[in-house]
Amino acid sequence: MAESKNIAGIRDDFPLLSRRVHGEPLAYLDNAATTQKPRQVLDAMEQYYVRHNANIHRGVHTLAGEATDAYEGAREKVARFIGARSQDIIFTKNATEALNIPAYGLGLGRDDAVMVTELEHHANFVPWQQQCIRTGARFLIARQQDGMVDIEQVKELVAGLRRTTRGPANGTTTAPKLRVLAVTQTSNALGTNQNIRELADIAHDAGALLVADGAQCIPHQPTDVRKIGADFLAFSGHKMLGPTGIGVLWGTEDALSELSPFIMGGDMIRKVGKEDTEFAELPHRFEAGTPPIAEAVGLGAAVDYLSSLGMEQVHEHVGLLGRKAREALSVIDGVRVLGDAGITADGRNANASGIASFTAPAHPHDMSTLLDAQGIAVRGGHHCAMPLMAALGVNGTTRASFYVYNDIAEVRLFTDAVAGIAARWQHE
Ligand code: PLP
Repeated sequence: MAESKNIAGIRDDFPLLSRRVHGEPLAYLDNAATTQKPRQVLDAMEQYYVRHNANIHRGVHTLAGEATDAYEGAREKVARFIGARSQDIIFTKNATEALNIPAYGLGLGRDDAVMVTELEHHANFVPWQQQCIRTGARFLIARQQDGMVDIEQVKELVAGLRRTTRGPANGTTTAPKLRVLAVTQTSNALGTNQNIRELADIAHDAGALLVADGAQCIPHQPTDVRKIGADFLAFSGHKMLGPTGIGVLWGTEDALSELSPFIMGGDMIRKVGKEDTEFAELPHRFEAGTPPIAEAVGLGAAVDYLSSLGMEQVHEHVGLLGRKAREALSVIDGVRVLGDAGITADGRNANASGIASFTAPAHPHDMSTLLDAQGIAVRGGHHCAMPLMAALGVNGTTRASFYVYNDIAEVRLFTDAVAGIAARWQHE
């Protein structure tokens, strides 16, 4: 494990951050889309290709053994990072693919129901919606209020499913059974954090599985899968200092054993006969074909890097920057901050994330373009959360998202720039 690091002064580890954009020093505040990579990650991937590159698992030669060790070693690091067993970690291409594995693998049918929420990123919405359309399963969408899942409505929807409905001819038909409650841990569009434990209890009481989309949460706070209550958890390497092309699906042994493999081919089999195929054990059953080996190595290095910072420190730092940004934005004339839901009934800060999402007199695309002209990279638009934008009654937001290498000076630079743009826009 890497030596422990202080968060102040880590900027030098990130070569890209020394770039200038439009002649200005870069303030990279688009970390919810993807994060920059430290030298340690870039070096680990380069070393893998320079010294160890080979295909994994099947070869007996030295390089094949080294590559296999590097890949499986990365799996162990990721497992430790979230308190999991390594055989329950499945490497995927990204969080999207990770969420599609249970959506396709659970074998949904007409007697099933799936519930998502209005808060979901399309990655945790479209696969479920489309599988429900294909299979005849019922698709339910729970409301949100101020960026928080409306727990009472989730309970009502579950109770509604339990009620037996009268059939068309005579007798009764049983309502579909809830199989899945799929919820984001942290909204990528607003930054609000859901109480997954409470939602998992509701799902489990109904005999359903809780699928957590951790794409915006795992990078920001310590996670122990033994405590959160989820049955599946998906996240992406590139949002936590790792490379693109690698994601993770974690599942409990029981939940994973409910799934049929969704992508088939080499490496995921134990035995192939003319009539049928026996699949490999976990996790290989879900990793068909040559996997993203160098990318897994890069993610392993990213996890080492984050662990050397300490996830408590990461959470505190990123949460502070997000809060300061939302506070400063909220006093700008014409600016409306979304997703600042305050303290929840269970005493948690509902938005302890590094996300500040807002509307202003300028359209999000104009706002983002004008900020870019000052070297400030943010994102404007629907953030792949169109059902949420519709529920909020906006066509998009401007979103700044902070990470470990950002600092308070960048928060000030950004919020002053927004204030300047908003003032000019109103007077033009
Ligand atoms: N879920 C959330 C909450 C996200 O923010 C994202 C990406 O922005 C995803 C899922 C999908 O991640 P990826 O595009 O890496 O598959």
